[in-house]
Order: sequence, then structure tokens, then C-alpha cells
Amino acid sequence: MSLIVQKFGGSSVANAERVFHVAHIITDTYDQGNDVIVVVSAQGDTTDDLIAKAAQINPAPSKREMDMLLSTGEQISIALLAMAIEKLGYPVISLTGPQAGFVTDSNYGKARIRRIEKERVENEIGKHNIVIVAGFQGMNRYDNITTLGRGGSDTSAVALAAAFHADLCQIFTDVDGVYTADPRIVPNAKKLDEITYDEMLELASLGANVLHNRSVEMAKKYNVNLEVVSSLERKPGTKVKEATDVEKMLIKGVARDNDVARISVVGVPDSPGVAFRLFSTLASKKIDVDIILQSIGRNDSKDISFTVSKGNVEEAVKAVESLKDILRYQSIERAEDISKVSVVGAGMQSNPGVAAKMFEALMDAGINIQMISTSEIKISVLIERKNSTRAVAAIHDAFLADLPQ
Ligand code: ASP
Ligand code: MG
Repeated sequence: MSLIVQKFGGSSVANAERVFHVAHIITDTYDQGNDVIVVVSAQGDTTDDLIAKAAQINPAPSKREMDMLLSTGEQISIALLAMAIEKLGYPVISLTGPQAGFVTDSNYGKARIRRIEKERVENEIGKHNIVIVAGFQGMNRYDNITTLGRGGSDTSAVALAAAFHADLCQIFTDVDGVYTADPRIVPNAKKLDEITYDEMLELASLGANVLHNRSVEMAKKYNVNLEVVSSLERKPGTKVKEATDVEKMLIKGVARDNDVARISVVGVPDSPGVAFRLFSTLASKKIDVDIILQSIGRNDSKDISFTVSKGNVEEAVKAVESLKDILRYQSIERAEDISKVSVVGAGMQSNPGVAAKMFEALMDAGINIQMISTSEIKISVLIERKNSTRAVAAIHDAFLADLPQ
């Protein structure tokens, strides 16, 4: 007998019909003799609707009350799904995040899971109940409800799988796996049978939008057997694991991220401490910086450019402005109409020429590169947003077009 954690996203439980469809997937798994822990997200656009509701009342509500509100979306889903499973005649119980023992820190809106107190879920499993847990939420040590950040239910599922040493953690979504590119942009994108944690991590954080990246980090850390599967059709999905057999595949995917903004600090002194001052100030404001580019110093002056997510631009610019006296820059430039396009593949570590091939594809498409950054398994370029769809298609064609379907 195995323990299986199954997670269903908001679209998979969007209406009564889908709730029953999901209930059948769960009871089939249970009928095969498995213990089943299920994690669900809020139905459809519920979380967005709740955010909109809050904005009508108070444009700047406290984060505690916001979490109190947002956690209700998942509570609706667990109760409805449990009712559907009851109706099918199976033993089931729904639990909120706090009831399921999720203890988090107090960082409302993006809380981190500290631990899972397993007793309650263990008891329910012991009674052969199917356990339905509300994703995306927990409780801090002051007994206040917290949420884990948008898309956080994936992380709830992986955390449960890790805590209970589940044999498998299946993430059901409305796509049937991880693709070499977003099929809406690249019609000939192919489904991957397998992908490594590291590749998935790069793709998730690059905007591939299949799995929440914290969930993949956690899966890697605790070696959770993860699988992305379709909730609509029953067919094999994509397995996410430590190493894949398909090493022949140089590149696993091409991703686009539109949530980027570039800030350039022009004309700062070419002297020690400038970068430190700048980035330590941004760090102290908890602004995540992604790509950094510093020009060569000329006439004792240089430029430093960096990217942040769109939501952080105002704050980042303010932070730079607060350093005017120290940095003595000439100007600050910002660009928000840009995208980051990346190729990802563990195979590039041992194969030269990937960057050249990517840049060639962009040249052939007449697309200019503004910034470049690389890691062991990823190459990213910053380009004008209006070219990003073409860029993804061109790069995908160069690397992945002739894979078998
Ligand atoms: N309902 C939350 C959201 O929409 C959490 C999730 O879907 O994973 O972000
Ligand atoms: Mg959702």
C-alpha cells in the first residue's frame, strides 16, 4: 500500500461537475488500496475575486486580515470536495491548513512553512479516511491564519508529501504536463516525460507557470517524487526528479517572463563600494534583484543596470534615489516594456555552443539583446516585450523543433 498526495488547482475544481470529476480521480486512487491526502486550491478565480472585494473596502488592508480573507477560498473547496466524496460513499474529512498542522512563520501573504504537526492527519489516515487539506494556508505561533503566497497550494502538497514520506506527489492541473515551451505561444511545443528538479526550478521561476517554484525547491530538498498530470484526461504526465535519462536532450525548454523591469543607474563613480551600497540598500528593502550588469569604467564613471519584478520598480527607484548623495549618479533610467526569455537544460553543462545557437536564432529573427545572464543550466536574455513571442518561437525552433511529438 502506498501513500499518495494529490493536489488539484483552482481550475480543476472550478464548478460542481469538475469537483465530481476530481472526486472520482481521488476515489479511484483510494480504491487501488492507497492512502490518499488531497490538497486543493480555491475554485477558479476565487482568490482574485477576494482580492478585488478587499480593494473595494480598503485599498491597504492589514496583511493579517488579507490572509484571513484569502484563506476562505480554499476552505470552500475542501468542504465541497469532501461533500462530493461523501456522496460517492467514501470516508472523507476536510481539514483547513491549521487543522492539518501547518505551522508557518508570521510573514503574512508569503509565509514559510516551519513544520507540519502530523498527528491529526495521521489519525485520519489511520481511520482510512481520505483527507482533504486546504492548500496555501497555515497558522503562525500567535494562532493567526497565514497564506503562503500566490500559487502556494503546490507547496502545501509537496510539504505534506515530504512530511509523510509519501510515495508520490501528483500535481493535477489543466495542462497535461511540462512542455518545452508554452503551447499557447509555440504550437509545436512538446510534452516532456521527465525533467530534473533544477530544470523545473529554472522553468518555474522563469514563468513557465506550471509549478510554484518553492514547491520544486522543497521537492528537491526532500527528494519528493513529483508528477505533473492532467486533471482532465487520464494519461501520463511529466515526472520531476533528481536526474533524467533523456540526457541526449540538450535543452528542456524555453521560457518567457514578462514580469521584469530594468533599472539603469547611469554615471556612477568607478570606485570600490558602489555596487555594495546599491545592492545592500535594495536587499535591506527586501527587493529581489535578478540580472545585474555593470559596464566597464570609462573616465572614472560606469553604469549599473539590474532587473526587478514589476511590482518592485517604484520601491527600487526610490531606494536608488535615497542614495543620490552617495552614488552621485547622473540619471536613473527604467524600462518596463521588456521580457526575459531563457533556455534551460542540464545538458548545456557539458555541451558548448548553446549560447551561440540561441543568439543566432535571435539574430536571424532580427531581435536585439539588451542584457544576458547565465547559470550552469540556463541562459537568459532581456529583450523588448513586443518581440518576446517571436523570440520564444525562434529559439524553440532552433533547439527543439525536430523532437518526436
Ligand atoms: N488560491 C491561491 C492562488 O490563487 C493558491 C493557489 O492557487 O495555489 O494563488
Ligand atoms: Mg488559484
